[in-house]
Amino acid sequence: MAEVGTVCDVLVVGAGPGGGNAALQCSRQGLSTILIEDHPEIGTPVHCGECISEIACQNLNLTLPEEVISKRVKGIRVIFPDGTDKCLTEEGYVLEKHLFERWIADEAVTAGASLHLRHKLLSMERMEGDSFGGWICDGKGDQFPIRAKIVIDASGVAAVCSRLVKPDDDSPLNPKGKVIAGMQYELLDVPSDGYLDFYIWPKYAEKGYLWMIPKCDGRANVGLVTEDKPRTKKALDEFITDTHFSDLEQVLPPWKGKGSPAFGGTIPISGPFDCTHHDGLMLIGDAAGFTSPLFEGGSHLALKSAVFAAQTAVKAISEGNLSSERLSEYTRLWKAEFPPYDKILRGKTALFELSDDEMSVMATCFPDEMSDMGASGKAMVGFRLLLRRPGLYFKKIVPAMLAFGYSRAKYYGW
Ligand SMILES: Cc1cc2nc3c(=O)[nH]c(=O)nc-3n(C[C@H](O)[C@H](O)[C@H](O)COP(=O)(O)OP(=O)(O)OC[C@H]3O[C@@H](n4cnc5c(N)ncnc54)[C@H](O)[C@@H]3O)c2cc1C
Repeated sequence: MAEVGTVCDVLVVGAGPGGGNAALQCSRQGLSTILIEDHPEIGTPVHCGECISEIACQNLNLTLPEEVISKRVKGIRVIFPDGTDKCLTEEGYVLEKHLFERWIADEAVTAGASLHLRHKLLSMERMEGDSFGGWICDGKGDQFPIRAKIVIDASGVAAVCSRLVKPDDDSPLNPKGKVIAGMQYELLDVPSDGYLDFYIWPKYAEKGYLWMIPKCDGRANVGLVTEDKPRTKKALDEFITDTHFSDLEQVLPPWKGKGSPAFGGTIPISGPFDCTHHDGLMLIGDAAGFTSPLFEGGSHLALKSAVFAAQTAVKAISEGNLSSERLSEYTRLWKAEFPPYDKILRGKTALFELSDDEMSVMATCFPDEMSDMGASGKAMVGFRLLLRRPGLYFKKIVPAMLAFGYSRAKYYGW
């Protein structure tokens, strides 16, 4: 490895929402911070449906500038296989996500972070003294090698540090997790009343869902996530052909100069990694496996985990203790805040064990507005189920119902 070049307190790897916010929070609190991004520009290709809730923005103290907002929306409408629809009304935004990510990175730079595009982390070497002294990071880009006391891995689904760091010389910090595939098109002249339409239609999206996410000027993202990865594009095309979207024009999104109109990516679905901190290292956002199990949103979780990581980094650096034990505070913080992944996953699994018909019957028992179902609302659903389809009542319907509850913004659903 070459002689050490650039030195900083914190190296943030990846300039998505998680990395941008980690760099912003670290530099605001006085840490010398470097933010690197593999791609030549931030935010593209967009790999997101682009929605974020108002509750998320409040929770994160984010005042969005107008230019990053494509549309204000009323909430989520869930559409079940027979067409029954129920609302989870809670306001939010559809973003121009690449502009949002650039805005956060710009804020980080204004706060003092230094941003380097076309910089890809490829290796990490421990600096040892009396105690662990930080990382020498190398890779592609003229700022390397970079010596950092703490590395914050915000590299998304690539989860690069989980592969590069090998605590026992052999196996990586975390094994590769499972992912689900997502793809969408931008369509024009899409009818909308301001709700995000989420279709739970397993025929097209196995253990996933489809969406129409409205944007400004009649634009919309129409897409899906599915565990049937090889069929992703075919299933989306079939859904569009079979529905009222069939006559609408598909266009390249504004950030995409040429190529196929389809865009998307993959989303981690194994839940949080077992190890989200190590000596001088914290994993945030998708790189830590933080996504919401039912609707797979991850921006809110990425942005919030960045706050916890920065908070922990500030304290650890000021105390001169970069050890895994010191940074375990980060893991304690996110565990205390984020909803229980396994419980929600059980709900999702229970939901997808239902047939289309059973899902639709369940939906007819829900109130039209699902966002404020208290204990009495849930009891009413149980009562209706007992009347209409008693067998269903005993078929893990309660966890399936809870999965919707946990998909609300206050539980980091979006
Ligand atoms: C189709 C689809 C739709 C989605 N819709 C939504 C939605 O509507 N709402 C929502 O909240 N979430 C949604 N998500 C999930 C959301 O996009 C992610 O959870 C979120 O972007 C995670 O942010 P992040 O900062 O952790 O990672 P990312 O946004 O993935 O950013 C990681 C960055 O790290 C960079 N990088 C990777 N490796 C390296 C390296 N070695 N060196 C330097 N840089 C590197 C990457 O280029 C990338 O820019 C969707 C995802 C998909 C695929």
